[in-house]
Amino acid sequence: MESIDITEANAVAAGTNKQQKRIVASGIGGRLMGTKSMTTVTAEELAKDSVAEVLKRDKELRLKIHHRYTDTHRDPYDARRGFWYSHIGWMLLVPNPKYKARADISDLVDDWIVRVQHRHYLTIMLFMALILPALFSKYFFDDFWGGFIYAGLIKSFMIQQATFCVNSLAHWIGEQPFDDRRTSRDHFLTAFVTFGEGYHNFHHEFPSDYRNALKWYQYDPTKILIWCASKVGLAYNLKKFSQNAIDQGILQQKQKKLDEMRSQLNWGPQVSELPIWSQEQFHEEAANKKGLVIVSGIVHDCSSFLTEHPGGQALVRSSFGKDATIAFNGGVYAHSNAAHNLLSTLRVAVIKDSGAIGNTYGRQLEYLAKADLEKVEKNKNKSKAA
Ligand SMILES: [Zn+2]
Repeated sequence: MESIDITEANAVAAGTNKQQKRIVASGIGGRLMGTKSMTTVTAEELAKDSVAEVLKRDKELRLKIHHRYTDTHRDPYDARRGFWYSHIGWMLLVPNPKYKARADISDLVDDWIVRVQHRHYLTIMLFMALILPALFSKYFFDDFWGGFIYAGLIKSFMIQQATFCVNSLAHWIGEQPFDDRRTSRDHFLTAFVTFGEGYHNFHHEFPSDYRNALKWYQYDPTKILIWCASKVGLAYNLKKFSQNAIDQGILQQKQKKLDEMRSQLNWGPQVSELPIWSQEQFHEEAANKKGLVIVSGIVHDCSSFLTEHPGGQALVRSSFGKDATIAFNGGVYAHSNAAHNLLSTLRVAVIKDSGAIGNTYGRQLEYLAKADLEKVEKNKNKSKAA
């Protein structure tokens, strides 16, 4: 089987495999947007980087790169470098040219609205952000400067901070219900200040899904706006990941957390780790050491537990040196799951050919079900005989 050429694949992902149409913004707007500085990195460099860094981690332009290189040196908002760096530092500091990255943005370049906006960015920005609110305020309230300062400058500052929060706050506070291997998180506070982009862990897992919030009670007005726009033909082909894929992610993350929790607890030695004793060996050991009891083919040292037994010492003492399987599993008392857990921490050996399994509580349930069945059979026979 021929395996994929990594350098070639990186060239495709970066869009360097084909002649890229480039939109050059006019005047100082172009310089402000720094489009030029993003084009120098080669597919070879990216290939080296992908293998060495991106793969190792798992063992609009910047946004796409942020998704492709989340939490690596090439991530322009690298959240690992701290809150302020991902919030605004990335913009104020000169980026390390070694860590430039590219993403294929031909879909954006092909969109005439994006092209017009990009080309005339500064003009559009100044007019829409500052001049229009000022004119609006002048027309309705006869207050040009009020509109300019409050609805223009201060609003722009606030919106900019809100936008930055998608890279900082959304990688900083909240839950990680879908995957915790990267820094993106879900939090209602982030959603509140970013008009819905706060369910960022979901967004990084399912980036082309137009939604951020999945539940009806989670705040995502942007999703609603896009949905409404689709109803009147202003947006189309809204992408959604299948609920199955989403639920798989949730389940796997929960499982991971459960496994972590499990590994922190003392479950006693595994049956496979225990020394194997014959029946004779058990009797010899039990003669020398008081407290050895067999339950479900496993030898337990109950000497330290004697005084702790909720059912009293006498019962435990009477089982020393004996097989207490039936008594323990319902003959005298059907012990709780917690009792079985506790018992498993007292394991010292396993009896040869006993067919012992680690889950002694499961074994008990089997015994009880079997006993019930036998009782039913017996009653049947009795009524037949009668
Ligand atoms: Zn992000």
